[in-house]
Amino acid sequence: MTTSDIPTSPARHHVVIIGSGFGGLFAAQRLKRADVDITLIARTTHHLFQPMLYQVATGIVSEGEIAPATRIILRDQKNVTVLLGDVFDLDVDARTVTSRLLERVTVTPYDSLIIAAGADQSYFGNDQFAEYAPGMKTIDHALELRGRILGAFEQAELSDDPVEREKLLTFVVIGAGPTGVEMAGQIAEMAERTLKGSFRHIDPTKARVILLDAAPAVLTPFGPKLSAKAQKRLEKLGVEIQLNAMVTNLDYDGIEVKDSDGTVRRIEAQCKVWSAGVQASSLGKVLAEETGVELDRAGRVKVGPDLTVPGHTNVFVAGDMMAVDGVPGVAQGAIQGGRYAADAITAGLRGQTPDQRKPFSYFDKGSMATISRYAAVMQVPLPFTKKKFETEGYFAWLGWLALHLVYLVGFRNRLNTFINWFFAFTTRGRTQLAVTEQQVYARTAMGALSALERREAEEIQEKLARAQRRQGA
Ligand SMILES: Cc1cc2nc3c(=O)[nH]c(=O)nc-3n(C[C@H](O)[C@H](O)[C@H](O)COP(=O)(O)OP(=O)(O)OC[C@H]3O[C@@H](n4cnc5c(N)ncnc54)[C@H](O)[C@@H]3O)c2cc1C
Repeated sequence: MTTSDIPTSPARHHVVIIGSGFGGLFAAQRLKRADVDITLIARTTHHLFQPMLYQVATGIVSEGEIAPATRIILRDQKNVTVLLGDVFDLDVDARTVTSRLLERVTVTPYDSLIIAAGADQSYFGNDQFAEYAPGMKTIDHALELRGRILGAFEQAELSDDPVEREKLLTFVVIGAGPTGVEMAGQIAEMAERTLKGSFRHIDPTKARVILLDAAPAVLTPFGPKLSAKAQKRLEKLGVEIQLNAMVTNLDYDGIEVKDSDGTVRRIEAQCKVWSAGVQASSLGKVLAEETGVELDRAGRVKVGPDLTVPGHTNVFVAGDMMAVDGVPGVAQGAIQGGRYAADAITAGLRGQTPDQRKPFSYFDKGSMATISRYAAVMQVPLPFTKKKFETEGYFAWLGWLALHLVYLVGFRNRLNTFINWFFAFTTRGRTQLAVTEQQVYARTAMGALSALERREAEEIQEKLARAQRRQGA
């Protein structure tokens, strides 16, 4: 084990930001002109644009286009240092953050801390399901899913057993929220358009795509009108929708489902995608143990009106990790939360006391979800009323494209994405269909490695605690 301490200039206020997602990156950028030093620590080297992960999984865009390197984005912002590391410990009394990269442990002191470590997939206590139905949170997930989807078609081509072929050509997406709807729509389109005619023994257009949810409707947050329209569009695409259907078990070959009348049935399907739930980063638990702050059922931190941990006015939580009434777990919530924390820190340097901070207020800019090529749903709050403008179809889809281009980081990424979209939507072509064996099977190896790493991290934590106790004695 190697340990290092990050030195800071005593003259400058030191802000540590955990996470390079929407919350973390936008907070760092907001502090560009502030008289502070910033250390941004994240476990990934990139800033991931999660809303387009499904397009990586289904071969429309490449991972580089939606995940530019954080240190390159922040290259010209001289007050930021970017560190790669998995934060596993926080000490709010000593004001330090401890992170790990392989066997190297780094302790970083802070004056102000912004925690924006996002959320992970939730399997509602059945973490063993992850092996059979990857979620959709990281580039690794998207590439693994791409491998599993295309791999299923390849295996079906080689099989002469009709029952096995049917299992291989059945794709089940669990969870009919925006991610599930987008995935199901794209698997159906890929089978129907891109792969059509490219196999000799199977007909990819005969693939069965099932979108399944325990709820009685798809896209429930969008309300009954848009939900019904989305369902109709999906069905037109050939997606089979199964509602009020609760997953009770998963294995390599299929899925067990309980319907609302209590019937338990099985669907044989090798390729499953999990998009049913989210759980805030486990750093929330570390923070709760350290400060006593409450967490909600999704593991989000119940912050005060200024997004700080009660009793710790220099520790902010932003994005998917924060539990704030009326703020959904979406990119805008994270961007606005990260910027608010950055502004509060800057105001503090100008003499504002924590009790003078205005409470965080969320500006809802609306929500969107794509269903397929040329179809999306869109909901935008109307000013001065509680009503929302709702639309669906081609114009909503154009709006989705335009908005996502705006929020993608980097001109070249926008241009490449635009070109890829043009070809994917106007022709049958998708340019990002390469998969490697390691992408598909890396999960097993990584699982073994992370179990080993967890044990090592626990040992490191114990050693640090012992050292702190010795120092205190
Ligand atoms: C598939 C998908 C589709 C989505 N579609 C939309 C959409 O269409 N519109 C929309 O508004 N929102 C969408 N969202 C939600 C949106 O992406 C999130 O709300 C947003 O990314 C939250 O930002 P964040 O900064 O809190 O977390 P994230 O963006 O998840 O970033 C978390 C960061 O923390 C780092 N991290 C995590 N744990 C640690 C640790 N222990 N140590 C160090 N670093 C750590 C990660 O590496 C990452 O850099 C979607 C999400 C998903 C998964």
